[in-house]
Amino acid sequence: MTSDTVNKIGTSPTLKISAKAKAMKAEGIDVIDLSVGEPDFATPDNVKAAGIKAIEQNFTKYTENEGIPALKKAVVQRLKEDCGLTYAPNEVIVSSGAKSSLFHLIMALVNEGDEVIIPAPYWVTYPEAVNLVKGKPVIFPTKEENGFLLQPDELKSAISPATKAIILNNPSNPTGATYNRKQLEALAEIIRGEDMFVISDEIYAKLIYDDFKYVSFAALGDDIKKKTVLINGVSKSYSMTGWRIGYAAGPVDIISGMGKIQSHTTSNACSISQKASLEALAGPQHEVSRMTAEFQRRRNYALQRLQTVPGLSCFKPQGAFYVFPNVSSFYGKECGGMRLRNSYGMAYYLLKEARVAIVPGDAFGDDNYIRLSYATSMANLEKGLDRIVQALKELKPAKKTKTLVLSNAVTRVRKSVPVEAGLSLKMRDALVAEMDGHLGFANSFEWNANINGVVIQLRTNVAHLNDFWMENWYPAQLESEFKPHGILYAVDGIPGREPRAFTNAETHTGVLVNTDNYGPTRSLALGMVMDISETMLGTQAVRGMSAEIHGEALALVGPPGTKKTELFFELLKDRQFRLHSSELAFIRYSAGAAVADCPERKLFLPTNTVDLMPSLAGLFDNSKCENVVGHKENCQDTACQRQEDCRLDRGSSYCYKASKEAHVLLDPNWLSGPAGFARRANLRWVFLLRSDSVSPAVVKLEPEEALRIMASGETPGTARSLTSKSQPFFNPHLLSTAPDRLELHKNFFRKLLQSATFYLFNSGVGTAEDLKKTIRGK
Ligand code: PMP
Repeated sequence: MTSDTVNKIGTSPTLKISAKAKAMKAEGIDVIDLSVGEPDFATPDNVKAAGIKAIEQNFTKYTENEGIPALKKAVVQRLKEDCGLTYAPNEVIVSSGAKSSLFHLIMALVNEGDEVIIPAPYWVTYPEAVNLVKGKPVIFPTKEENGFLLQPDELKSAISPATKAIILNNPSNPTGATYNRKQLEALAEIIRGEDMFVISDEIYAKLIYDDFKYVSFAALGDDIKKKTVLINGVSKSYSMTGWRIGYAAGPVDIISGMGKIQSHTTSNACSISQKASLEALAGPQHEVSRMTAEFQRRRNYALQRLQTVPGLSCFKPQGAFYVFPNVSSFYGKECGGMRLRNSYGMAYYLLKEARVAIVPGDAFGDDNYIRLSYATSMANLEKGLDRIVQALKELKPAKKTKTLVLSNAVTRVRKSVPVEAGLSLKMRDALVAEMDGHLGFANSFEWNANINGVVIQLRTNVAHLNDFWMENWYPAQLESEFKPHGILYAVDGIPGREPRAFTNAETHTGVLVNTDNYGPTRSLALGMVMDISETMLGTQAVRGMSAEIHGEALALVGPPGTKKTELFFELLKDRQFRLHSSELAFIRYSAGAAVADCPERKLFLPTNTVDLMPSLAGLFDNSKCENVVGHKENCQDTACQRQEDCRLDRGSSYCYKASKEAHVLLDPNWLSGPAGFARRANLRWVFLLRSDSVSPAVVKLEPEEALRIMASGETPGTARSLTSKSQPFFNPHLLSTAPDRLELHKNFFRKLLQSATFYLFNSGVGTAEDLKKTIRGK
């Protein structure tokens, strides 16, 4: 529903963790929050007073878009005093926080495809800001042994013709690393020769320790100043995070570009906050020094405590208010059966076991670390560190357990491929010749599958497809002189061809080009089988999920969005019902009954079915799988409620729910033993599904109405968008839609209507109980 933009970015991890810590506190759990990125001090009294005065004087209207002149002047003055920089007021813009300045700057500077170099570890917002304007973040990892500072040769290697800018965060959030003049000069030397800008985020510039001599990047020379936009604000230095005032200073064209953008986003920053910030920047500065001295004391304390922990190392930061210890030596250890694998796992462990909230390093681009903020009272810091030290001590080497290795094939192509049915004979021959040319003798596989009496031979050079093919179907005779009914080529690695499928009905040939994914292979095979069997065997297929009870089957048939799978698994919880078919049943008429057969030896199911039946996970563990997600970055389940509590972080090497494209081949006999699976049953009830909140749960259908719905693939009241590719229900993989074939289908289903009863079922109100009542005639 939401846009790609929303789906592409994550909520700020710091916010999420703080929210979790707050929620735990609200439940009465005594959590120490070391995740916060703001000073714990009160905003200085003189600053607050200036804000109150602004309200009393009714300074509560729109101001100049770029900020009130007095505040811009104060910014100019502060940059002169603190950094020796000279800016004109029109080279300064005041925004709603430094974050807002940064976004407007990136919007003003970066075009689609422009690269922005971001040394890692980085502040979480930088890559997202670049992504939002379709720029390309080029993350360059720095090394702890280099003090987390980007080295000149590293900068050189990161620059490309597409480079637009680099974001330097000095001092850094999360490492606290700070560049001295010499180190900045070395970077400037390279930047001078390049057509690029420097975004210098100096929000922590005043929080500097050990008499470190802070240098602003723009102060390295007039030429560098022309390429630099400095970002700062009052949030950190004056303990004013909630007031939302930041600013940028740089070349006038960029600043006025930012002004244009700002005029359409936030307009001016809060008028009251601007007055308060004016007091902060222009008034007495002793509160800043007091705060810095206190931060230095806490930093020293935190470092001293962390140094005593065996296996932990911690870089000594020169600025900001974070420590960034390396905790990677604890990965692989466990406590109470919980094994840590990464920084998210560590964050989870510390929150649950030690009741301390910290931020995982992965959020900043380095999974070996965690970030602790010492912007909290000394008492809290002591308590928090006591708990962390204790919790780390409790981690013990993990017992040697047999780790389950999932049989999982990851394919290059993930989605279904376009099908071109009705290939001419000439084209078919040319295509087959091309495929044969690529198959060769070595590395090619051939296997005859018996799919409901129709034999399809797969010819492929993809071992995985052959493997799944053999697993999925019952075998047919394998002798080479044996003639299959249809041939299916699946040939990968053909240069210059897009993934595609082709069929020729006359010769019963299917061709899949450049796809290694099993889904399209299976679909095409089923399409061919239906095509062949409706003329050869007089059988047809019903697309639906079916369950058997006392020799008779009910089928649930419906487009996506009608909760077919939910209902089906709910029904199966009643052990009287046995699984019959998970997707498709072939039907033929015998002695007045519609005999429905499940053609599959192993069921091809999306692995996220575990959502509906958690007990399936144990069965999947021992089955063959395709495209199960093993890395969090590949997770597609944006709605997953577990978030930081992600199983991939907590020791599991895969997650069945993370991708809609992950499938398993499940032995139906494993569900509840051979007695829980019925391969054959007489189809007696067909429920055509719709889902809304007003229609009755069950409506019995007259034959003609049932036929119309079956042919159109749409149930009344189901939005068309749900059935974007509306196909007849009874044949999802229809290869031939010629009128005579469609008539054949209709006649077939007319017959079915004589032996089976059709209902319209509203899954929006009806439950599995209603299904049961209906078939029992109650
Ligand atoms: N830059 C960095 C490096 C930060 O850490 C933060 C705050 N976490 C900001 C910018 C944003 O500050 P502001 O509150 O002014 O938006």
